[in-house]
Amino acid sequence: MSKKAIIVGAGAGGLATAVELSCAGWQVDVFESRHEPGGKMHQRQVGDSSIDGGPTVFTMHWVFDQLFRRGGAHFDDRLKLTESRRLARHAWTDGSHLDLFHDTDQSADAIARFANEENAAGYRRFCRDGALIHGLLKDNFMSTTQPSPITLGYRLIRDGGINALSVAPHRSLWSALGKYFSDPRLRQLYGRYATYVGSSPLLTPSTLMLIAHVERDGVWCVDGGMRALALAMAELAQEHGGRFHYDSPVRRIDCVNGRATGITLASGETHSADVVVFNGDTAALSDGLLGADVSTSVPVRPRHQRGLSAITWCINAETSGFELDHHNVFFAQNYAQEFSTIFDNRGICNEPTVYVCAQDRINGAPLKAGTERLLLLVNAPADGDHKAWTRNKLDEQREHALSVVNRGGANITFSEQNCVVSSPDDWHHRFPASGGSLYGAASHGMFSSFTRPSAKSRVKGLYLSGGSVHPGPGVPMATLSGTLAARQIVKDTAE
Ligand SMILES: Cc1cc2nc3c(=O)[nH]c(=O)nc-3n(C[C@H](O)[C@H](O)[C@H](O)COP(=O)(O)OP(=O)(O)OC[C@H]3O[C@@H](n4cnc5c(N)ncnc54)[C@H](O)[C@@H]3O)c2cc1C
Repeated sequence: MSKKAIIVGAGAGGLATAVELSCAGWQVDVFESRHEPGGKMHQRQVGDSSIDGGPTVFTMHWVFDQLFRRGGAHFDDRLKLTESRRLARHAWTDGSHLDLFHDTDQSADAIARFANEENAAGYRRFCRDGALIHGLLKDNFMSTTQPSPITLGYRLIRDGGINALSVAPHRSLWSALGKYFSDPRLRQLYGRYATYVGSSPLLTPSTLMLIAHVERDGVWCVDGGMRALALAMAELAQEHGGRFHYDSPVRRIDCVNGRATGITLASGETHSADVVVFNGDTAALSDGLLGADVSTSVPVRPRHQRGLSAITWCINAETSGFELDHHNVFFAQNYAQEFSTIFDNRGICNEPTVYVCAQDRINGAPLKAGTERLLLLVNAPADGDHKAWTRNKLDEQREHALSVVNRGGANITFSEQNCVVSSPDDWHHRFPASGGSLYGAASHGMFSSFTRPSAKSRVKGLYLSGGSVHPGPGVPMATLSGTLAARQIVKDTAE
């Protein structure tokens, strides 16, 4: 008889575990609070349009190739992807602009024109070191069950990589970037990659320069948005017998003699299983939201360790003055202050850096006349559990963001009914116990990456997957965590 797994949550991590375990012959039931799969990969309805309101930068294609291959399918047959030749357009309030490309030479030329040859040479060194770090950590950290600093050190010595890493981990990304770039705008641009894991470039270790490498390795636009990716993953699990139960919030993870044995839904219905996998933010477990029996299954995450939250606006807008690409960043002047305002003063400064995803533009394809679908994002402190953002405060922040975009050269106009806002308290409500953090714990300090919970919780029979778990946040990393959870389960339950 098949072994039974219950998965709580159909985010990227839960979906990956569902695919892996159903392919391994398990009977898999996924219980999800919302009406469809995806979690943070979701769309907002704005007027007549569906706009991606969560992740938009799709990277690490290989993670999905491998997952779909294990499910007997070709990823590229299931989804239409277009590789972005231009990674992003960047604009500053002083009127300067820089485009970066998939092609390193093209980017180096652009940097030489934007700054000078010295910074272009720094960029080439930055690419080389980022690739080296990525190469070492891909197999020794990301794709393995959580290593400790000792086991990672051992593997790096074994693989001859310790010298490469000795350039980095004790320094912050921000200080390391000074070694490569004398132009402060480039330091700002590459420091921003720390925010992909919810962190400040001033506090995150320089090893995270590997994120820029991941993006250089390839960025794709997914036809139908990231929601389409979630639907494709759910479909793959279903083809192997996985069952999905939507609008089914789980109230409690049930235990007998200290072992997870099933769940109780908010409706009171109970289901039993050999293992339970929790895909929500692990803070929900330690906060006791899934019951006292599992509240010690993971370490408590203190508030100050939460990663970034965000205020986002999904907008149907008319734009002018600036040829937007799919990914655009409008930088404010004082980047260091932005992060100290968020992490130290728990606020957002009046001049925030703004990410704009123009979802109808791919590789500079001309836009049909009329409005276009935009996601605007500014980083925010993850205090959504105790600080409510009033309508006035959100409108004020929107004015600040639009002013930065405007000084970077773009005009964005829209009517109120064509704009849907999400604040940290909304994110907290959607992702319970997170405080609105979109990335679990921040990667601050040299050892933070080792402190994320691993796939195996402290409670027998309870496993974890998702962005708050090793190897960390982001759609591909959360997907990897789902695979690691399934592997751990198969290993632990082998007769
Ligand atoms: C605005 C925004 C922008 C982002 N940008 C990017 C980007 O460009 N690229 C990128 O790679 N990543 C990005 N991310 C991060 C990325 O989206 C996440 O790291 C990843 O999707 C998290 O997946 P997860 O497995 O942790 O599940 P989540 O997406 O957190 O989903 C967890 C699911 O569990 C469900 N759940 C929780 N508790 C229960 C319960 N008790 N009962 C039933 N169901 C429950 C929730 O409803 C949810 O559906 C972004 C995120 C946001 C919000």
